Amino acid sequence: MTKEGVAEKLSSEKNVRAVPSPHSLSALLSKNPQIIPVGSEMVENAVGTKAKHLVYDIDRTLIQHRDEIVYTRSLTVMTPKQRAVAEQCVCGKIRVFPPETKMCLHCIRKG
Ligand SMILES: [Zn+2]
Repeated sequence: MTKEGVAEKLSSEKNVRAVPSPHSLSALLSKNPQIIPVGSEMVENAVGTKAKHLVYDIDRTLIQHRDEIVYTRSLTVMTPKQRAVAEQCVCGKIRVFPPETKMCLHCIRKG
């Protein structure tokens, strides 16, 4: 999905109050450890100028199931409940560890 696609999707969701600008969406997408760029797409704007836009996807090597999203959230976006059970991994990341494990999902998938 390109950032325009994300913006469109967000504006179609009723519970989203304000859709971020394309510029802040780019920043958000590139900062998010759960999302990776997977390619690019030529997009033509209203005046006919073509520009290359990155296509983003969920990091599917890391997140293989919906339930795993919670283990990849960074401290800043955790709920208070998640924050209470989060631990620091050997890699330095603070994450909620999957059950019965002593490391974050990133390290599990890398190993
Ligand atoms: Zn780790």
